[in-house]
Amino acid sequence: MLNNEGKLQVGDVTISNDKCTYIAGPCSVENEEQIFTVAKHVVKNGATILRGGAYKPRTSPNAFQGLGEKGLELLFAAAKDVNVPVLTEVMDASQIQTIINASNGHPFIFQIGARNALNYFLLREVGKTGMPVLLKRGKGAMVSEMISASEYITSGGSPVIMCERGIMTFSSASGIGRFTADHMAILKFQEAGFLTIFDPSHPAGKKEYVEPLALSGIALGADGIVVEVHNNPALALSDKDQALNLEDYSMLIRKAKGIEMALEICSDKDKVKEEQLV
Ligand code: PEP
Ligand code: MN
Repeated sequence: MLNNEGKLQVGDVTISNDKCTYIAGPCSVENEEQIFTVAKHVVKNGATILRGGAYKPRTSPNAFQGLGEKGLELLFAAAKDVNVPVLTEVMDASQIQTIINASNGHPFIFQIGARNALNYFLLREVGKTGMPVLLKRGKGAMVSEMISASEYITSGGSPVIMCERGIMTFSSASGIGRFTADHMAILKFQEAGFLTIFDPSHPAGKKEYVEPLALSGIALGADGIVVEVHNNPALALSDKDQALNLEDYSMLIRKAKGIEMALEICSDKDKVKEEQLV
């Protein structure tokens, strides 16, 4: 939920509904070179929060599960190096204190992933920390269920940022994208008073769809986007097909800033005369 001014402060970063906040980083933290390289690049190119998973919810138990505490250590070291807050997933209540300890006072946001969106015990526990929480929409969760779920978090004192990341529908079943991005949900969450971030990477499922989807979310007025970026996507240990490489990411930011600028200029009657628009 927004505070009275419609803003949320995380370290030096203000997330608000009057601009787009860029959150970027790898799906999973894999090694020192990867996270430091990606962190430096995304922060040089507009990102103000570094994402990265140390605890990974994978469909198969045989897939890479994340580096755990070592991953947290690398992630916070990289974020400190570029001086931005962290966004990282907590999958289980037992990891809450581990993440807080790893942060060592560095600002961060807890991510609740889609698979845990309605895990009420975890939501309550994470809410008691008072730290900000990015609540990702469950694959099959209704907007109203997500709003109720957020109350488990806010009841403990933590502020909630909503995240639309796509839902399971006919298009997912037909192999068009991995999930269906539900743009209306962004508007609904905002209408309900939530700062709302859009994740184009997980509905896209492959990198070619990430940029157009991201731009659509920005044009729609999402309060931020969270996008997966890897220095060498072919070698990524999770979500490699949807990872943008460093160059793709720079291009996305260029276009994203262009959309933001165009919207700002066109919203200002003094800057654009009516006849220029027709
Ligand atoms: C992720 O952010 O890497 C992730 C696993 O997301 P989701 O929970 O939305 O699938
Ligand atoms: Mn991912």
